[in-house]
Amino acid sequence: MSHVAGAGQPDLVVALFEASADAILVVDEAGLIVASNPAATRLLGYAMDALHGQSVDTLVPGRFKHHGRQRGGYQAAPEPRPMGRGLELFARCADGREIPVDISLTPVVVGGRRLVGCALRDLRGRAHGRDTLSVQATALRSAANGIVITDRSGVITWVNPAACAITGYASDELVGQHTRVLKSGQHDPGFYAELWRSVTAGKTWCGTIVNRRKDGTFYHEEQTIAPVVADTGVVTHFIAIKQDVSDAHRTREALVQAHRELAARVGEIESLNAQLREQAIRDPLTNLYNRRYLEESIRRELARVRRSGEPLVVAMLDVDRFKLVNDGHGHATGDAVLQALAALLRGQVRDSDLVGRVGGEEFVVVLVGASLAIARQRAEHWRAGFAATSVPGSGGAPVRCTLSIGLALRHGDEPPETLLGRADAALYQAKAAGRDRVVIAD
Ligand code: GH3
Ligand code: MG
Ligand code: MG
Repeated sequence: MSHVAGAGQPDLVVALFEASADAILVVDEAGLIVASNPAATRLLGYAMDALHGQSVDTLVPGRFKHHGRQRGGYQAAPEPRPMGRGLELFARCADGREIPVDISLTPVVVGGRRLVGCALRDLRGRAHGRDTLSVQATALRSAANGIVITDRSGVITWVNPAACAITGYASDELVGQHTRVLKSGQHDPGFYAELWRSVTAGKTWCGTIVNRRKDGTFYHEEQTIAPVVADTGVVTHFIAIKQDVSDAHRTREALVQAHRELAARVGEIESLNAQLREQAIRDPLTNLYNRRYLEESIRRELARVRRSGEPLVVAMLDVDRFKLVNDGHGHATGDAVLQALAALLRGQVRDSDLVGRVGGEEFVVVLVGASLAIARQRAEHWRAGFAATSVPGSGGAPVRCTLSIGLALRHGDEPPETLLGRADAALYQAKAAGRDRVVIAD
């Protein structure tokens, strides 16, 4: 030790003790604190002299259960050395907070008492211990996520093996390159500009990017890019954590596609079903309702008008001497006549009416809500209209037919069969009376 002019040795020691930047505690054999310097009370948050007489255990976090026993062991073989042998040490402050510290122990004998000087150095300013750093580096290297660290200009300074696996590049092919090397061109410039704006402003960016592997293939990557901001507020590095989500993306795309195809199939099936439903109730030649559907509908309508009290008339129509058309001009001309009649009826009925073809050249119209007088008027209209209608026959000559019609108005609770039977009888009368006429039942 060099001499300091004008200062006695004890004064110097006291001055050093008082001024030391390291916290110093002196502990006796029972573990009681017998002296502490200002740095110690400052560090641990105690008032001046508040530590005196306290057990040193007060300053040790509870999880260091063996501290008492280890202290006994130290006293059995005291020597100047760091405490904890590589353990990360913490001191508990007056307010219960813990701070990381380095502690060195120095045994001293003063006036026959065996004391131990403990110097505590605050580690909070220090980034991390060497061990911590190496543990963290190992964690980063072995992380399942790709990790890429760049400098502030975007030049890659470090990558982990997962990042290499995702991109297909070796580590030394990436380090020194700008992250542009992974750019796919799948995003517009605005996308990259926004990302860059965000991270250079010190914000963390999260999102999915399409990047390009070394082999040129594209992949979807979920990324978090966080800037490293120094104490001075300057961004020094960027850390990107990446996850290849191409599989998930592909799965999602495949699902969307499957969904689309399924929707199309369902659409087809639906329209096919609708077609089948229509076919089940329609006559294919004229597209009017078929007999089965018409009978069903008459039953339903009769039940309904019985409740409402509305009138309902059934008209039964039959083409006169239709056999002659078939015989004279052929079946196709006969079909054309039937279609012409269907078109005429379709054009002259109301929404509430039901029109069907119930046999070869027999048709039925159900007039819901029509009185007999109205029904007769309308039937006369059809008769006259049909008589004036022609279709081209064989050799081009026009073929005309006439129509006989029987009408029956519903009576009370009469079942459909009876009502249809009466209309049919009226039709028979029309035929018997010379055809081309309308006859009302009863
Ligand atoms: P009437 O005045 O007494 O009714 O005489 P008609 O010749 O019309 O009567 P008939 O019932 O004897 O003849 C009906 C004919 O209708 C018999 C059949 O060949 C024909 N026919 C039945 N269905 C069809 C069809 O879908 N197309 C064609 N072209 N003819 C049919
Ligand atoms: Mg006929
Ligand atoms: Mg007939």
